[in-house]
Amino acid sequence: MSSPTSPDRGAAVPPAVRSREDIDPRGRSRDRSWPPAPEPLPLPVIDNHCHLDFSDGDTELSVHDHVRLAREAGIDAQITIGSDLAANRWTTALMASPDRPASLRGGVAIHPNEAPLHARGHDHEGTALIDLDTAIAEVAEQLATPGMVVVGESGLDWFRTSKKDEAARAAQIDSFRAHIALAKERGLPLQIHDRDAHADVLDVLDADGAPDRTVLHCFSGDAEFARACVERGFYLSFAGTVTFKNADPLRQALATVGLGPVMVETDAPFLTPVPYRGRPNSSYLIPLTMATIAEVTGATLEEACRAVRATTEQVYGPIPAGPAA
Ligand SMILES: [Zn+2]
Ligand SMILES: [Zn+2]
Repeated sequence: MSSPTSPDRGAAVPPAVRSREDIDPRGRSRDRSWPPAPEPLPLPVIDNHCHLDFSDGDTELSVHDHVRLAREAGIDAQITIGSDLAANRWTTALMASPDRPASLRGGVAIHPNEAPLHARGHDHEGTALIDLDTAIAEVAEQLATPGMVVVGESGLDWFRTSKKDEAARAAQIDSFRAHIALAKERGLPLQIHDRDAHADVLDVLDADGAPDRTVLHCFSGDAEFARACVERGFYLSFAGTVTFKNADPLRQALATVGLGPVMVETDAPFLTPVPYRGRPNSSYLIPLTMATIAEVTGATLEEACRAVRATTEQVYGPIPAGPAA
């Protein structure tokens, strides 16, 4: 198979607009080399949440490189998610591009950590930003682009935005409610970002009524929260975090609900599965996460892949398998 470090030039899709920090949260520099490709999956699955607008790694990979490497590892479709204005515009341009790989789909939303910035009218550097209503109106327009299959990621994040900051909290809740309404109005699934906000996420969804297809992206709760989600008919998408050594509660959550409501994602370039934590992430590393999903649910890898793929298409509709780009 071709190596992750042989980029395919000349693709007329937009180049990445953001790059991931080279310093980790503890101030250490990261290993930016691409992990080797794992053993390919026996049956294909879909990466239902990645951020292809981010560049990472010591060798730049194009969208076509990511798609080709994923395909070779048995991930035959991907959904790339925009989460701020620039990323949403990038994702929209990619969806509209005649060179978009057939297996690529998109989603857009104002991320919960972006909502307070729009509400106060400027970003962390003081640059002016459009107000929250205008930003969400732009998302509503972008969702009409062919290839857009999901509203996301929206939700609540009490980790990076303090719950105690009244204005920020109100902006996140307003934004979440607007995205719930938008998903219902368009008949689209909703991908929820929930960080340290499980109870509040459920409260808002219960109060407003959740969309028919509601996905907890990068599920991070325990068994009790997983049950509460599944009782409501929600889907749980597991990322590389389920492979982390300290993630026993997450694995118990997965074991409790079984394969039925489960999907898989990378959240790439973040959350690289064990044993490559901290290094760049891409859809081609999903076999490492699928191995854990199979092990924890007591399924064979084939059974796990079949179930996860079927559930993913139930949520987003059929997505054609991508030819190697
Ligand atoms: Zn997220
Ligand atoms: Zn994400």
